[in-house]
Amino acid sequence: MTRNYIAVTYDVCNHNNLYEDLNEYPLDMSIDIDKQIREFAKMDVAPLIKVYVSDTSDFKAFRLYREYKFNEYECSCSQ
Ligand SMILES: [Zn+2]
Repeated sequence: MTRNYIAVTYDVCNHNNLYEDLNEYPLDMSIDIDKQIREFAKMDVAPLIKVYVSDTSDFKAFRLYREYKFNEYECSCSQ
């Protein structure tokens, strides 16, 4: 069975109760995941990325696979 992975970028601001999903990207599991994730975070300036895995390509049923946090892209409201 082939597993399908997608990465979802999130924009998060605790000060404004913002928790918004930005974009979805399919992951290529044959190359370095962390590297792809870092690229997505950079592109979307996303402080949070969640990777979801599904056993079907239509993603009818999926579960959280991994979570990545990028402190450098966190909002600067409190500064
Ligand atoms: Zn903020």
